Amino acid sequence: MARRKKKGTHRRLIVSVQQRGGSQDHHEAIEQHVHDILAVLCGARLANTFRITVKLRVTTLGTDYGRAHWRDRSRSATARSKHHTITVKRDLPIQQQLSVVTHELKHIVQMAKGRLAFRRDAYYWRPVGHVGPSVRYDRTSCYWHRPWEVEARKAESDYRHIARRHSAAFAK
Ligand SMILES: [Zn+2]
Repeated sequence: MARRKKKGTHRRLIVSVQQRGGSQDHHEAIEQHVHDILAVLCGARLANTFRITVKLRVTTLGTDYGRAHWRDRSRSATARSKHHTITVKRDLPIQQQLSVVTHELKHIVQMAKGRLAFRRDAYYWRPVGHVGPSVRYDRTSCYWHRPWEVEARKAESDYRHIARRHSAAFAK
């Protein structure tokens, strides 16, 4: 089906994968995963405002498997795309890397929808259907009980079949 382009808008989702060292032949699977996960997490309209960079790194994360940068890194207010970076531990099995990407994309969508923010050493959260000021969570609040983490872990398990499919396709 042909898609009509609005004049002056050429937005589309841009995905790139960066890695230092190690085997890099699964990058295409990661890129495809980002596209497919965003398609189920949010509409194309929002997904097309993103530029997502996945960085596969060895040591930066300590015991964490992955991390999404909380701020829109684009320097220019007129930038077409909101640039988000996801850092993933490089030497995890591919299916696990894809699950980490799912988890971090959920956070990116939460932030993009204005449901999650981090400022002045605290998190601010809007539950689904919440009206009024967002709920403040101290930085020291329990990781496992933070509702945005509960949602991100649920996304991981809800879409594990997509990670499985991409990692299986890669293994062929
Ligand atoms: Zn998380």
